Amino acid sequence: MAAMWEQQVRDWPRLAEGLASLRSAERRSFELGGSQIMVQCNPARAASASAKVDPASLAARPCFLCGSNLPREQCAVVYRRDWLILCNPAPILEPHYTVASVRHEPQLLESALPAILSLARDLEGRYTVFYNGPRAGASAPDHLHLQASKAGSLPFEKELIRQLCGGNGDWIDWVCSNGLRVGTTRNGRRAAVIVISGSIESTMFTVGRVLKVLGGIRPADPEPMVNLFATYADESWVTWLFPRAAHRPSVYGLTPDAFLISPGAIDLAGELIVPRRGDFERLDEARIRAVYDEVLFSPAQMQALRSQLA
Ligand SMILES: [Zn+2]
Repeated sequence: MAAMWEQQVRDWPRLAEGLASLRSAERRSFELGGSQIMVQCNPARAASASAKVDPASLAARPCFLCGSNLPREQCAVVYRRDWLILCNPAPILEPHYTVASVRHEPQLLESALPAILSLARDLEGRYTVFYNGPRAGASAPDHLHLQASKAGSLPFEKELIRQLCGGNGDWIDWVCSNGLRVGTTRNGRRAAVIVISGSIESTMFTVGRVLKVLGGIRPADPEPMVNLFATYADESWVTWLFPRAAHRPSVYGLTPDAFLISPGAIDLAGELIVPRRGDFERLDEARIRAVYDEVLFSPAQMQALRSQLA
């Protein structure tokens, strides 16, 4: 996988350009509720951030994740016969992989979760595998896919690792911690649910239960809006998900007075992607806070979730 990335950076000009855009991206760091938000100004992400995800627009374009439409230069590593590991030509992280189903089937967590967890384990915890729901940041909601990056690349993940490894435990409120650990972030922190288990079955069952509760609090079709991450450490799956209240923030838009910000998993994990320079320059802490407040569960929704998980 790492060798494929290096080879593709050398041989595929589109990836080389995307990587150059990432490496030269300007960044601004903010702190929100004790957690870092790194704003990345990356013009190469404009197409993804403005992707039209309504059924008519999707049907009108060739699917860029279908094997028959992949660019000639794009290589793939086959994973368990059902998945193609690909280099993302507009990377937000270095390296940044897209893992696409070999079949053109809808993005659904139920279909993705077994692969997310087995891939996280098979990659021996060196990578974190993540998922954007069909109405939670996925730019191809009609084609089942995951993403992967080096473990520990994102601000939220770094903070979570510190919290779990000798941290004083002050920002996770454990609902249960008896073999299977399930917790939620405390008020003030970005709303997230954390599930840690040494069993893949118990992780799947618990995430399924969390989804069911989320669906009761904030119903959405075809599934509750979530972004989910999983990695593997100390023979356990460490999984966390961000429950979403909205697909896009109210400031989202393509006009000059709007902001081209369409948060997915990476943004919620603390790397906020802003393709337009003007947006990057006028973003301030209050605006960033409003974006996260709008797209994530509110404290009241988190309280409802907690009481139903207990
Ligand atoms: Zn497709």
